[in-house]
Amino acid sequence: MQKHQLLIDGKWLDAEDGGTIPVINPNNGLEHGALARGNSRDIDKAVAAANKAFFGSWGKMAALEKGRLIYRLGELILKNEDELSHIEANDVGKPLTQSRNDVKALARYCEFYAGAVDKTHGETIPYQEGYTVLTLREPHGVTAHIIPWNYPMQIIGRSVIGSLTAGNCVVIKPGEDASLTTLFFGKLALEAGFPAGTINIVTGYGLEAGAPLSAHSGINHISFTGSNQVGTLIQKAAADNTVPVTLELGGKSPQLIFADADLDAALPFVVNAAIQNAGQTCSAGSRVLVESQIYDTFSQMLAKRFAELTVGPAEADYSTGPLINPSQLARVNDFLAQTNDLKILARGTIVDDAPQGGYYTVPVLFGEVPPSHVLAQEEIFGPVLSLIRFSGEEEAITIANGTNYGLVASVWTTDGARQLRVARALQSGQVFINNYGAGGGVELPFGGVKGSGYGREKGLEALKSFSNLKTIAIHHG
Ligand code: NAP
Ligand code: MG
Repeated sequence: MQKHQLLIDGKWLDAEDGGTIPVINPNNGLEHGALARGNSRDIDKAVAAANKAFFGSWGKMAALEKGRLIYRLGELILKNEDELSHIEANDVGKPLTQSRNDVKALARYCEFYAGAVDKTHGETIPYQEGYTVLTLREPHGVTAHIIPWNYPMQIIGRSVIGSLTAGNCVVIKPGEDASLTTLFFGKLALEAGFPAGTINIVTGYGLEAGAPLSAHSGINHISFTGSNQVGTLIQKAAADNTVPVTLELGGKSPQLIFADADLDAALPFVVNAAIQNAGQTCSAGSRVLVESQIYDTFSQMLAKRFAELTVGPAEADYSTGPLINPSQLARVNDFLAQTNDLKILARGTIVDDAPQGGYYTVPVLFGEVPPSHVLAQEEIFGPVLSLIRFSGEEEAITIANGTNYGLVASVWTTDGARQLRVARALQSGQVFINNYGAGGGVELPFGGVKGSGYGREKGLEALKSFSNLKTIAIHHG
């Protein structure tokens, strides 16, 4: 069984105390490797290496050269698409087509940001007579990246590549259930020629490696994606060191289907937004609000699709794979146990050849869910979709805004004025009109409002989060 090491200062190392963590394949529940169990001493070394690179090799490198390295990394990622996608299918249980999409997205982040490294311009500001004032975009220094298990490659792309582009060096703590593609990414970064210490990866448990990283006095920014509970701890740790944070804490994203919508066009988007990665997606479209006149028609269309969904091993590429681990399966089952008062419209099927030890659960479609029901309020992180009936635009907006979250929303209507009116009224970081991009393209700024977090990653906007603005006022008379 393969033993994986930490990447610190350009070298592959065991954890200081030699500890390891078993790597489990969620498709069958079997152990298939071991990760190094990093702790605070490994974090100290990684943060020191990142600081050394920031004040040395990476910090002094010309923007043009940094851009070339990032582009080369993207090329290597694409060249290794097969291997990376099979690793992800067996580590995270993501169906092969979705794993491949994640590899392509990671490469696409490299392509997008590589060309931006030498275009992060400042400005000149008109000021008093005898002055010239200019602004510079400067990197924070060392940024910490605490990554969840659900989309390691996509989140490395949007946070780590964005941060490198702004000129920072990074320390990454991947989720312990999904570290393998991140480690492979580290290997490709060395192959591309990134200087030692620019990218450091410390695998380990949240409390043992994540907490000391977020509390470290040698980091200057934290990018965190994950649960609200841990997000709160991260903010407290950052407050002690006065370090800025970008927080992405998930959502309960609504998809609004008005009576005049093109239902055939909406159907595949609505299904995919709910079940992609077995619903373990921060931007999952997990609530579908349907206008009363078309409620019966659209719920029947959806029920037919849900009944056709298949669940099985990721390598065989069914509609969904297993959930990530037994506790995620228990979490979804806990939610399902609270639905005796609800009507199930359809369920998918686990295929016969799904291994017994895998963490499989079927997609479930619930109808007539009251907006205040736990299923319509809480992030389930499983393939569970709630249909909610509404009458008229005003009620749709009230229900859509009626949760603690505000990450993504979609509006399906052919009425142009309504498209904009509703999009503007929704409390949400992103709104899609007549489409739904779970997380959207790499070009599109992404992040939440309310309990979904703050700060933006992706697009050129991310470069603002990953840098500081310095103002220089020159008095020349
Ligand atoms: P989580 O506990 O918030 O984990 C996210 C990351 O934070 C992981 O790398 C985790 O390490 C680390 N971490 C845990 N405790 C920490 C601490 N005290 N200090 C610093 N880092 C810490 O999320 P999860 O357990 O993976 O998932 C739980 C729930 O969170 C899900 O069911 C879902 O509702 C939500 N979630 C949301 C997103 C999203 O994209 N918004 C992603 C994942 C999960 P370990 O992996 O070692 O715990
Ligand atoms: Mg795993």
